[in-house]
Amino acid sequence: MPRTIGFIGTGLMGRGMARSLIRKGHTVKIYNRTRAKAEEVAEIGGKVVSTPAEATEGSEVVVTMLADPAAVLNVIEGADGVLKTIARGAVLIDSSTVSPPICMRVLERLKASGAHMLDAPVFGSKNEAEKGELGLIVGGDREIVDRVKDVLDAMGKTIYVGANGMGAYTKLVLNLIIASTLQAFNEGMVLAAKAGIDPDLMFQVIQSSRARSGIIDMKAPQILKRDFSPFFPLKLMGKDMRLVLETAGALGVEMPFINTLSQVYANCIRDGLAEEDFAATIKYLEKQAGVTVKSREFGA
Ligand code: NAP
Repeated sequence: MPRTIGFIGTGLMGRGMARSLIRKGHTVKIYNRTRAKAEEVAEIGGKVVSTPAEATEGSEVVVTMLADPAAVLNVIEGADGVLKTIARGAVLIDSSTVSPPICMRVLERLKASGAHMLDAPVFGSKNEAEKGELGLIVGGDREIVDRVKDVLDAMGKTIYVGANGMGAYTKLVLNLIIASTLQAFNEGMVLAAKAGIDPDLMFQVIQSSRARSGIIDMKAPQILKRDFSPFFPLKLMGKDMRLVLETAGALGVEMPFINTLSQVYANCIRDGLAEEDFAATIKYLEKQAGVTVKSREFGA
């Protein structure tokens, strides 16, 4: 059954997610802070609106896909925010990567309005978002998950991880592993290049060994081609490392490695790499070492 859905945040990921919902025949009211990005999505259907409150009004389900905690709080609690118009019984699916306390704060606010919430951060990138093939890591009441199953299914595959906030915890753990793995790859490749090992050959050896991983499979070809156009902007992975540290601090867990990694991201952002893909952390290492990790094909 087609539904009326509010979609808020049509950036790199939200664009494909909103389009997947439109393709499934839902009536989607699209809001984005920069209106032009909402208009691009609406080229295939849906209606562009001017505020989060307008996207929410009369919607059974509202999906948010926003940069960080500040963006989520702005859209939910701001002057023309979701809380102004959300209906009793409506469900907010927040797919932004934020911290568990932010999820709980939004949940409490929505509860006070008689609405429900799921934290549903995603894995996959803009290509999977466009195809409706993301992984959605969902926390919240099982009954609410079942109630919006068709909406979740349109965006990807659901992995239910427990109560509200658990989706956010799980996503942060996932990203700390992904960022750490890529950092190890980047440091290794820079060391290899400095030692005079051909980057293509080094990559070939990694791929033949247990050092191989999903994130290296994806990012190595981009690095070797020197293509740092953003799939996942570096500033957002930097934000995630900060959220990991915040979360670990609250739980009394030491994270010596992520402490250092978070500093690497801060340095890269200071060096002007914020908008590039997070694979561009290698540029910072290359600058220090005086080498470039580049495939022979692209003129090493
Ligand atoms: P993005 O392209 O930077 O989009 C961010 C969105 O947030 C845009 O719609 C932006 O609006 C909006 N926004 C930022 N600050 C705002 C504010 N103060 N008020 C209202 N709207 C605001 O990022 P993305 O890659 O789509 O990522 C979205 C979320 O998904 C992030 O939490 C990210 O960590 C997570 N994520 C990303 C990926 C990935 O591969 N890219 C994968 C998994 C999870 P404007 O267009 O006006 O700037």
